[in-house]
Amino acid sequence: MDIMDKLKILTDAAKYDVACTSSGNDRSNDGNGLGSAVGCGICHTFAADGRCVSLLKVLMTNYCVYDCKYCVNRQSNDTRRTAFTPRELADLTIAFYRRNYIEGLFLSSGVIQNPNYTCERMIKALSILRYEYHFQGYIHAKAIPGADPKLIAQLGLLADRMSCNIELPSQESLARLAPDKTKTSILAPMALIRDKQQENKAELIRYQHAPSFAPAGQSTQMIVGASPETDYQILKLTEGLYHKYSLKRVFFSAYTPVVENPLLPALDAKPPLLREHRLYQADWLLRFYHFEADEILDPEHPTFNPLVDPKCNWALHHPELFPVEINRAPYEILLRVPGIGPRSAKRILTARRMAPLNFDGLKKIGVVLKRAQYFILCNGRTAAGLVLSQDTVIRSLLSTQGVEHMNSYLQMQPEQLSLFDPSAAQLQTLIKEGIAL
Ligand code: SF4
Repeated sequence: MDIMDKLKILTDAAKYDVACTSSGNDRSNDGNGLGSAVGCGICHTFAADGRCVSLLKVLMTNYCVYDCKYCVNRQSNDTRRTAFTPRELADLTIAFYRRNYIEGLFLSSGVIQNPNYTCERMIKALSILRYEYHFQGYIHAKAIPGADPKLIAQLGLLADRMSCNIELPSQESLARLAPDKTKTSILAPMALIRDKQQENKAELIRYQHAPSFAPAGQSTQMIVGASPETDYQILKLTEGLYHKYSLKRVFFSAYTPVVENPLLPALDAKPPLLREHRLYQADWLLRFYHFEADEILDPEHPTFNPLVDPKCNWALHHPELFPVEINRAPYEILLRVPGIGPRSAKRILTARRMAPLNFDGLKKIGVVLKRAQYFILCNGRTAAGLVLSQDTVIRSLLSTQGVEHMNSYLQMQPEQLSLFDPSAAQLQTLIKEGIAL
């Protein structure tokens, strides 16, 4: 098999990892210039300074001795298999880099022979890149669950970011759908990476030129919709992972059926994209808005409201806290207002030191008044002509687009319905009424 065939198979097999976004461009070189945007697994990530960096997203191999039911690369799946040698992968990365197609590498792998052997091959490829080619670009490497801690530690010294995918939100689902993996085998490398990073920070203070261990931190990915866990369970787990393992990001991937299996959703089931979207919104609230998972959802309300985002949903459930007087509210309360983000909350604090703010001033500051106006007062007044009542607020917040999303959502995941806990029939009535701005 030539290198281009290997590349096609191994970039295609890597596309289900959502830790970075695929470009999807398929324009090839016409022979008259330099460069090509041919679709061979280029994805993007963001550097610490906000630059968008393109990466070659590829597997070392799609051979796998494990049999995770949801995965195209599982042992029992009849698919074309191949593997890069470490040298091939390093040469290919450098060839892409020299042609300016990529600025870095996102390297994952199926488990070939055993986790240690797989990890050794990845280390070999990255060593060629770092020590032979002196490649200093961004490298994201997957930690292989079950590999020896010493190998994972070695991999971390070669990579900028590491990730260890938790994949399923509970031990029960792992046992059912990924019988070769356990919660412990996934969490152990995460804990190791966390500890190594802490040690490394201390080393770097003492020895300025000590090698860095995964300086861009670690992340993980969770599949949503392949197993029965609720949004609440997923969000609680996400919160726990941030606290316990100092993760940079938890990524969510709506399960796309690629294999037929009685334990999984049917092949024609649509991926729960709205659910994935709500999880990302809630994740944002955990990381930047000082929310706790139990404030967003709870065991009695374990699913997201499909019609409004989690922050609006929270605000609508706490009418006693609103409206907030924008010229007096502390930062923590401003952050809770839908339409006000951390940056606009800070700008409000600065601006109101000079003079009281009005609605025009808030707009200039970057507050999304379309949403915020239902929850705020400026100098004791509401926005012109606005009467605040929960009913008008709910109806105003539901856009036509939201109703369309809701319609498709009803078809995808009827069990997820909840608008302040009415029945599905009530929701259908709301939709028929065509609630719009
Ligand atoms: S370990 Fe599981 S998820 Fe990873 S490649 Fe193998 S079968 Fe797929």
